[in-house]
Amino acid sequence: MEHSAAIKRLSDPKPQGRWSLPGIGLVKGLLVTATNMLQSYYRKDRMTTVQYPEQRAPISPNFRNFPFLVYDGDDAMAGLRCTACSICEKECPPQCIYIVLDRDENGKSLKRPKVFDIDVSVCMNCGICAEVCPFDSIYMDGEYELSTSDRFGGLLFNKQRLARSTNYHAKLRPLQAAEVATRRKADEDKKLAAQAAKEAKAEAAKEAKAEADKEAKAAEA
Ligand code: SF4
Ligand code: SF4
Repeated sequence: MEHSAAIKRLSDPKPQGRWSLPGIGLVKGLLVTATNMLQSYYRKDRMTTVQYPEQRAPISPNFRNFPFLVYDGDDAMAGLRCTACSICEKECPPQCIYIVLDRDENGKSLKRPKVFDIDVSVCMNCGICAEVCPFDSIYMDGEYELSTSDRFGGLLFNKQRLARSTNYHAKLRPLQAAEVATRRKADEDKKLAAQAAKEAKAEAAKEAKAEADKEAKAAEA
């Protein structure tokens, strides 16, 4: 009995106690459209037409286009945070990142990229490279005026083209850059404290040894 009542309820297009005039949904939709149209003439936040390229609308904080590489200090190439670990290269779904690790004459890793290219004509703006980078080195850019007639050379960005300063990052994504800067500073402080503790321990051991040698010499005499 209960089962058949439930089936009846489900198959009833008009739930009991509810009714509507035919076409009322259409009228409501038209009213929303009319309100939006009228508001677009007097409400500032609804005036969305911008005279591009003379004017530019501010981009949304979450807008992302292609990646860029962050560098510290004034020298873009010397200050690159990238260690050429190649994690982003491996994780990039369309495989549009190409990295070559820089090495010294003995073949030892210099922990920096000799080559770091991104083919932005292939990049799908997913942001995975920025998510997986363990060195706070790569982030998504908001630059969108990239049209070029050079299909191959113009859209293959090398490390010089990709490098952006920390100030650029802070201006583009203030919250993210501030969080990264705080974390990096805390890591740096921790490293310095550990180094200082290590040096203090070594110094104490040296002093203790000198003291022991002195006592041994005094005992011999
Ligand atoms: S945004 Fe996505 S597709 Fe583009 S380089 Fe990064 S991982 Fe590759
Ligand atoms: S950008 Fe980050 S993940 Fe990619 S190679 Fe450089 S350090 Fe590694």
